[in-house]
Formats: sequence, structure tokens, C-alpha cells
Amino acid sequence: MDKKLSIVVSVYNEELSLKSFYAKLMEVLGGCRWDYELIFVNDGSVDNSLEILKGFSNANSKVCVIDFSRNFGHEAAMIAGIDHATGEGIICMDADLQHPPESILDIVLKFEEGYDVISMIRTKNADAGLVKRITSSAFYKVLRLMSPIKFENNSSDFFAFSDSVASVLREEYREKIRYLRGYVQSVGFRKTTLEFQAAKREAGESKYDIRKLLTFSIHTMCSFSDFPLKLGLYTGLSVALIGFILMAYTIINKIVNGAPAGYSTIIVAICFMFSIVLIVIGIIGEYIAILFAEIKDRPIYIVKDVYQNGSIVRKR
Ligand code: UDP
Ligand code: MG
Repeated sequence: MDKKLSIVVSVYNEELSLKSFYAKLMEVLGGCRWDYELIFVNDGSVDNSLEILKGFSNANSKVCVIDFSRNFGHEAAMIAGIDHATGEGIICMDADLQHPPESILDIVLKFEEGYDVISMIRTKNADAGLVKRITSSAFYKVLRLMSPIKFENNSSDFFAFSDSVASVLREEYREKIRYLRGYVQSVGFRKTTLEFQAAKREAGESKYDIRKLLTFSIHTMCSFSDFPLKLGLYTGLSVALIGFILMAYTIINKIVNGAPAGYSTIIVAICFMFSIVLIVIGIIGEYIAILFAEIKDRPIYIVKDVYQNGSIVRKR
């Protein structure tokens, strides 16, 4: 047992699934050649999650619990876990058993083969309805079209990487608006993929509602592509061309028929132009909002306490 795995688990109101997740994880790790540390990040849960996590750390000295001062979101929680990880291989996974702990053994094999980045591809999502499946696949298609980086379709928040990649993430990728799995796939190094089937959520409900998903999608598109920004230029050019043809037509019509240009044409042209202009301003607004968040440079997360062996080892 010379090498160590760091398993990073983000937890937000998961009191119902934590115990079975932990039991399953222990079972798998018992059969693993590598040593391990478990880093649970409590992302401002308002249920009993923290007490349960403290219980784990009390019983097992390899468990570390990072308690946030409030809810900062799933990605921030994963980043905090990565910042604290000390193992040679790091795995990020969810606490709701949708990411099967058995896959850890396959991941370790890939690490031993010398891979640095292992993306877990979801082949099935037992929890997703038709709408979620369609929107999720459309999201990946659009993202691939817009961004120069070839992201894996249906990649998930279940991924693993080596300590070299972790040090890149810790030092170089400190953006406030971020897409962690995008970073992991774009840093280079030796990459591979493994497949898994997302099981049904063990208990409780998905913490991602439509609004969170929409914000997440817009942020991802904006931080990995500047195509929407250029959209203004492209549509502006095409609209200018149409406008020019319309102008020529109106002038010729005036000369030949002496007729004034139609009222409808004006209304249609105004509506069309205004909607294009407003859309473009909106898109620019999204980018400015991101710039604003980056310039403010506020912390990605705030740690309140860190627990080890059931008691606080670091306090704010
Ligand atoms: N999560 C978190 N902070 C949040 C929302 C979610 O740490 O603000 C955790 C949650 O506890 C779970 C994982 O992130 O371990 C994935 O969340 P969820 O299962 O709700 O998302 P879904 O699987 O439905 O996409
Ligand atoms: Mg889930």
C-alpha cells in the first residue's frame, strides 16, 4: 500500500443516503490495494448531515470533514476537497450513490496503467426523465459545437485525476465562474474514459432545479466559448445584407411605382432589428457579469471548521 487515493464527496442535505453510501464505500475500499483518505465537504447542509459526517470521522481517522460556512454549490465543494487532498490519485463523486463506488477499483487500475485523467461517462441515468435526457444531450452537443475543446458527451461530476493534474487545478484554475469537469478534460495529460450507469438516487431529491441547471449551462457556454459574443457581429452582418437588399428594393419600387414603402415592412424590420440588438446586448451582459464576478475576486468557498477524529482540527 504505497499509494493513496483521495476521495472527495460533496454533501448537501444528504442525511438519508450518507450512511449507506459510506458503508458501500468502505466495502469497496476494503478490497482496494491503495490506501485512502475520505474528504467529505459539507456544503452548508441544514439537515443532520454534519452530525453523521462527524460520526464517520470519529470512528475512522482517514475521514476528514470540511464544513463550509454556507452553501457554495457543488463545484465549490469539489474544489475545496481537491485543495485539501493529499493522495496520488483523486476521485470526485456524489454522495447519493448515483456514482457507483465499485467503479473506484476500475479507476485505480487506470491510475496504475499511468493515466492522469479518467472521465466517467454516463451511459444510463436511471433518475433522468425524458426532458432531462433531451436537454442534457442538447447541452453537450451545443457545447461541443461552440468550444474548441472536444468535451466528452455525457461526462459527469464523477471523475478522477492524478496529483499532477490536481496541482494544476489548485494553482492555475481559480476562476469564480467555472466548469470543473471542463477543466479536467482540457488540461491535457494522459486521458482515458470509463463508463458507468447512474443508479437511482439513494434517497432524497436532486438538489439541482431548473434555474440552477440553466445558470450552470449559460456559465459553462460563456466560460468555454466566445462564439456567443461574436454572434452579434455575424447577425449584424447578415441583417445588414438583408437591410441593403430591402433598401434597394424600396428605392426601385419608389422610382418605378411611385409607391411609399409599406407600413408592415417598417414594423417587421423594427421588431426584427430590436430583437437582434436586445439579444446581443443580453449576451454581452452575461459576459460582463462573469467579468464582474472575476474582478471582485471573492472566495470560491469559505471553510468554517475542519474535523478529523470527530473533533475540530482547524477553526476560523
Ligand atoms: N451538492 C452540493 N451542493 C449543492 C448541490 C448539490 O454539494 O448546492 C451535492 C449533493 O449532495 C450531491 C451532489 O452534489 O452529492 C450532486 O447533487 P444532486 O444529486 O442533487 O445532482 P444530480 O445528481 O441530480 O445532478
Ligand atoms: Mg445525484
